[in-house]
Amino acid sequence: MEAGTVTLVGAGPGAPDLITVRGLRALEQAEVAVYDRLMPDELLDAMPPECERIYAGKGAGHHLLPQDDINAALIDRARRGYRVVRLKGGDPFLFGRGGEEAEAMTAAGIPCEIIPGVTAAAACGAASGIPLTHRQHAAGVTLVTGHRRRGAPDLDWTTLARSTHTLVFYMGLSNLGHISERLIAHGLAPETPAACILHGATARQTVHTASLVELPGAVPDEATPPALILVGEVVAHRMPLDGAPQASNVLPETSHAG
Ligand code: SAH
Repeated sequence: MEAGTVTLVGAGPGAPDLITVRGLRALEQAEVAVYDRLMPDELLDAMPPECERIYAGKGAGHHLLPQDDINAALIDRARRGYRVVRLKGGDPFLFGRGGEEAEAMTAAGIPCEIIPGVTAAAACGAASGIPLTHRQHAAGVTLVTGHRRRGAPDLDWTTLARSTHTLVFYMGLSNLGHISERLIAHGLAPETPAACILHGATARQTVHTASLVELPGAVPDEATPPALILVGEVVAHRMPLDGAPQASNVLPETSHAG
């Protein structure tokens, strides 16, 4: 029997046509697929009908499959000789535990391939018209998790607040108030332009822009993830995009200064 393989495929941000050609080919050849929530139907439909589908995400009537169970399922199917696809949102190696999964496959002696994906920062920047870097305004981008885990060290707010980079927070919606407050407490100007992009690059996209201090109040309480938070002067250089989803707020005039 031929040895099985595991391929971690980046699905992109949720728009079905933002997967890579290589990723789509892997889906079309999958014999087993383990996938997370928010996967567009078009991508699930791209897999052969006989492909075994294992849902690993939370949702109505489902519990999140624990990481050990996901790893065990991947290893089990690969050992039985199948071509296994692990379909993950965005890019597999950015905040998606792809590193842990690849490590587990390597430890189990299973050949593992990684196919990159369009990460939320790139997708949301493009779909909202906000450049992530800009020769005059941001020499770099820092991608950080906005999710606070009990017992885990807090972010290095001093470094973040001093940074001249665009700051991009993943998984930060429920912590938006904290993020805004910590950055300001560590010296970032309250009027720094900021944005919250909900369901970026999908038909449900909404963009809220405000100064850093006002952003938490500008995002409706009923907003649901996925949401990306962008902080930096680049937000003031947002360009109007033809056909792009409309902004629900515009930056106050004062935020354009500097
Ligand atoms: N590996 C993924 C990130 C997984 S963590 C990637 O590379 O994009 C999940 C977080 O990603 C969400 O909480 C949100 O912050 C962000 N995210 C993913 N898709 C998004 C989208 N369409 N719009 C806005 N944020 C998104």
